[in-house]
Amino acid sequence: MLNLEKSAEAFAEAKNLMPGGVNSPVRSYRSVDCNPPFIARAEGSHIYDIDGNEYIDYVGSWGPMVVGHAHPKVVAALKAAAERGTSYGAPTLLESELACLVKSVYPSMELVRMVNSGTEATMSALRLARGFTNRDKTVKFIGCYHGHSDGLLVDAGSGLATFGVPSSPGVTKATAQDTITVPYNDVDAITAVMDKYGEEIAAIIVEPVAGNMGLVLPKQGYLDTLRKLTEKHGALLIFDEVMCGFRASLGGAQAAYGIKPDLTCLGKIIGGGLPVAAYGGRRDVMSFVSPAGPVYQAGTLSGNPLAMTAGIETLKILTEEPEPGEPDYTRQLSLKTKTVVLGFTERAKAAGIPVQVHQAGSMFGMFFSEHEVYDYATAAAADQEAFKVWFRAMLEEGIYLAPSQFETIFMSGAHTDADIEKTLAAAEKGFAAVKKFCGK
Ligand SMILES: *Cc1c(COP(=O)(O)O)cnc(C)c1O
Repeated sequence: MLNLEKSAEAFAEAKNLMPGGVNSPVRSYRSVDCNPPFIARAEGSHIYDIDGNEYIDYVGSWGPMVVGHAHPKVVAALKAAAERGTSYGAPTLLESELACLVKSVYPSMELVRMVNSGTEATMSALRLARGFTNRDKTVKFIGCYHGHSDGLLVDAGSGLATFGVPSSPGVTKATAQDTITVPYNDVDAITAVMDKYGEEIAAIIVEPVAGNMGLVLPKQGYLDTLRKLTEKHGALLIFDEVMCGFRASLGGAQAAYGIKPDLTCLGKIIGGGLPVAAYGGRRDVMSFVSPAGPVYQAGTLSGNPLAMTAGIETLKILTEEPEPGEPDYTRQLSLKTKTVVLGFTERAKAAGIPVQVHQAGSMFGMFFSEHEVYDYATAAAADQEAFKVWFRAMLEEGIYLAPSQFETIFMSGAHTDADIEKTLAAAEKGFAAVKKFCGK
């Protein structure tokens, strides 16, 4: 049995200090009915808790740690940067260097603004879209997460495609009513909304590869439909690639699916484990951002040299030319991910457990469901009890996964063949545990 005694004590104490004992809700492990391990350190693909347990980490701080934890190049650059001072609140060459790297991979981002979190990026992009179009309403898809700004903490009202209702106390009805929610991957629903409200819509915001209801892929042609509808109605198309950026492919979903959005939000990987996010896009639109234009947005620590350094070093590793004949970094990640995805699929099948395993580059996810999963409703129908049993069995075996099947799991460049072998052996035990549980 996994010994989590010290973590349990630490969690009890943390609950007296922070709401629910954490600084972000999903870390509390509430959905898997156990205490979270408290982490002491991490290196490469492995993470270590305060009780001395060691795990293979597929959370990667929820995506950013794509080159592995404490990568020597990133650490060395950060040490040197820290000695030069961590923030000046003044322009630096590092900001231009990171912006340049981002533009080289995301050519649709003609101008880039750095911020500190994905939440800030999407919130600012939407304000910009409203300011640029002089329209008030936003369309978002049910099950897509874009951070916790008021206008995006909105659930569907009754009916298929409706004006939103607050999904959290504290969000005003007036704010929620400016957001229209539509099921993901439903061409008819979004077409109907745009036909009816198109002239009032500032932007459609979408996770072009959805990673926050578990991993759900866009159906063929779906993103193209969004591009055409926004063009037709003079609304902006915002790709929230905070998670799928540098993962669905190096150039994100926009490169993988060949769609050019008006605005893009990046986060997670772009900061290499430090708090960085960015929004950017069409030059004429981005020129509306202050001080170039009238739409206000600012940040005391935005673009600070420490954070820029972590982003630059991480993106340098990702964009490095491969040895001749070798696949590039993201391709290698994708191949490793595929091995795990196929391994999970085969082992589930052998155990007679119905699952849907999805992959986009170095992102993957598994639903305990016998039905195809393509939107929030089909994701939510997956078997949560089976997931809990599987999750705890994996943790016992030293495999650290996101504590919910409605999250995505991530491969890093530091994961070794031995890690993957161990993961698949654990998966087999996990499926056996689920089988036993279902037999009861
Ligand atoms: C994580 C995430 C966000 C929010 O980013 P934070 O840095 O947590 O504020 C926004 N959009 C998507 C798609 C995300 O995955």
